[in-house]
Amino acid sequence: MPQLSKWKGKDSIEFSESVRKGEVDFESFYRELFIELKRINKKYGVFVTLASPEGLDAPGRGRIAGVPVSVKDNICTKGMRTTAGSRILEDYVPVFDAAVVSSVRKEGGVVVGKTSMDEFGFGTFSTNSAYSVPRNPWDESRCCGGSSGGAAALVSALDYPHIAIGQSTGGSISAPASFCGVVGLTPTYGRVSRFGLIDYANSLDKIGPIAKTVREAALMLSVIAGKDERDFTTEGKREDFTKYIAKDIKGVRIAVPKEYFGDGIDEGVKKRIWDAIGTLESHGAKWEEVSLPSTELGIATYYIIATSEASTNLARYCGMRYGAEGEIKGDFNEYFSEIRTKYFGKEAKRRILLGTFSRMSGYRDQYYMKALKIRTLIIREFRKVFRTHDVLISPTMPVIAPKFSEIEGMSPLEVYMMDTLTVPQNLAGMPSVSVPCGLHKGMPVGMHVIGNHFQEGKVIRVSDFWERVSGFPRTK
Ligand code: GLN
Repeated sequence: MPQLSKWKGKDSIEFSESVRKGEVDFESFYRELFIELKRINKKYGVFVTLASPEGLDAPGRGRIAGVPVSVKDNICTKGMRTTAGSRILEDYVPVFDAAVVSSVRKEGGVVVGKTSMDEFGFGTFSTNSAYSVPRNPWDESRCCGGSSGGAAALVSALDYPHIAIGQSTGGSISAPASFCGVVGLTPTYGRVSRFGLIDYANSLDKIGPIAKTVREAALMLSVIAGKDERDFTTEGKREDFTKYIAKDIKGVRIAVPKEYFGDGIDEGVKKRIWDAIGTLESHGAKWEEVSLPSTELGIATYYIIATSEASTNLARYCGMRYGAEGEIKGDFNEYFSEIRTKYFGKEAKRRILLGTFSRMSGYRDQYYMKALKIRTLIIREFRKVFRTHDVLISPTMPVIAPKFSEIEGMSPLEVYMMDTLTVPQNLAGMPSVSVPCGLHKGMPVGMHVIGNHFQEGKVIRVSDFWERVSGFPRTK
């Protein structure tokens, strides 16, 4: 009997309950699901590696029993190729699972494949991938956002139970969620273990869920969050984040930063967010305009810190330890250069140059050290706002998803500027949810709800409330 069709439009929570009760014919469900996954992959290019219905994990009985889970391709999966979107890791098959993947499997989730991304996370549109460039299910001539583009596009295109695991350094969960009309939850830095993540910038990297609904994202956060001794930056107890779902928002104090509504932000996008703030107010929330004066320093600060860390992290790909190799010719420097020239993409090379430069003696104080100081300033400004407010609300991205033809004409700096609204919060390591907020020119707009460190609960409460009153369609 066909199993998949009856789960169309249903969420992972309901599905998992049925699996636990033994009501789902698991084999038929997954056989049919993979036909759908293949179709979506062909159309939108969302996977680097797709598993096969044979040899999947047994469903188990945990909190996400039987739920299909996709994993961004920079998160290690035992026995399943993990490329981080780079040619240099084309044949890399990890011998271990990342902490989040172990947690997913332990709670009964089923890993269905690895989603496409910008090489090592270097990008905002997922166009810097050495593999497939995902296309936006709302309009195939437009990008999905990045760097977790494959994950967000898959969530948008697949109308069956599924949760994606994405990762953000400077906005890579929020940006694609916003462009594809889905929910992206970026946890507090240190909330989720990074063990088994292929590092981009260690002081910024965060793993988090992308899902159709806030409640599914909250459920997945409950599965993957918590202290892990293999990542000494982790903090916090295991918690059930679904308890913040289905609450009201009476008395919630919203801060609206005026710098996030300035020049360069599409008027249509601004209007959607202001309308939403008005709706939240009519349901009992209070809002007030605030100022985050260092916002304009965010891009420079982020790109100095992120590239500095990235350039050190990429040093390990030298053709000797793991990843691509070649025939050893000349001295080591010549050999390393040959391998790196051949296998790194253009953006990765640009970031190695930028990062190496800003860490060099003579420039270190001028760039890297200064950026660290401004980062502290940015954190303080956020903290000050959170002394008197519960959450901060702004547009997630300044624009709707650009067309591929528009991206071709952008300079690297113009691309970096797209991250203006997402990098400050990422530098500060604060949690956020990007939640769909209506359409502009037929494309989704994302609203960013940002909270103080370890205040995911408040962010989930407000974004879930908005999701319920706004009634954004599950599918386009
Ligand atoms: N667009 C930003 C960058 O290129 C953020 C990407 C990310 O979060 N991985 O660095």
